[in-house]
Amino acid sequence: MPNLRVEDQKLAPIAEKILAGERLNFEEGVALYRSNDLLALGYLANHVREKLHGKRTYFNVNRHINPTNVCVASCKLCAFGRKPDAPGAYTMALEEAFRIAGEGWTEAITEFHIVGGLHPELTLDWYCELLRGLKQRFPNVHLKAFTMVEIGYFAQRFKIPVRDVLLRLKDAGMDSMPGGGAEIFADRVRALIGAFSGNHLRFHAHDGSGYRLVGEVVRALDPINPQIAARLAGAFENWRRYDPQRQNLMRAELQATANMKGLSANLFEIVTKMLG
Ligand code: SF4
Repeated sequence: MPNLRVEDQKLAPIAEKILAGERLNFEEGVALYRSNDLLALGYLANHVREKLHGKRTYFNVNRHINPTNVCVASCKLCAFGRKPDAPGAYTMALEEAFRIAGEGWTEAITEFHIVGGLHPELTLDWYCELLRGLKQRFPNVHLKAFTMVEIGYFAQRFKIPVRDVLLRLKDAGMDSMPGGGAEIFADRVRALIGAFSGNHLRFHAHDGSGYRLVGEVVRALDPINPQIAARLAGAFENWRRYDPQRQNLMRAELQATANMKGLSANLFEIVTKMLG
């Protein structure tokens, strides 16, 4: 391990296996996830990346559009959100958002990354018009829009299931979503960092739609990108730990995944292990 200094001793035998090109088992994968030794993890991840893809790297040229910074939440970690009447609070008119999207336009732009605050008054139609208008003007640009927190908020505010929110936005032109906000599963951690205060913003909501959604995404992703599908399947592991009352919902999704035709061996192994 010439250039690698491993601070976390639990990582040392795993690092040796990675550098020797050996496959890791499930427990070793979890140990990677638990380790705080970021420099060693980064080194190992890059080692595998270069082994698989050499020095080739692909960049996504994106432009950020933040249609509003008005937000009903008060996350301690946030320097972006503003209360509606606070100095610096803004909400773009649709035409303004379209103009900003096109400013200094170059064909190199492949994606608009659209996220904002949790606005108390904007309607779902407004968000759909935003997407539709961007798609009409820039049909070749991928629209990555709205964090899980925003989606959860839309469902709660517009009083429709998460799935229907997604279908409406997808129909209007949303191509994918950033993952922000869905990674905090533990109420204890949410309370600690003051994220999304108020119990109303849980994406993994009471009707179980969060589980169904992750199950659907895992199954849809597996044939396209088995590595990401396998990582996402790990979300169930977190939920199982933090939301034991809804074991049956998670089991149903895991079972549906295990039953899927053409499931990759890797994901099958992970899912059947979780099913015990
Ligand atoms: S929900 Fe987002 S924008 Fe609102 S306060 Fe929290 S991090 Fe900031």
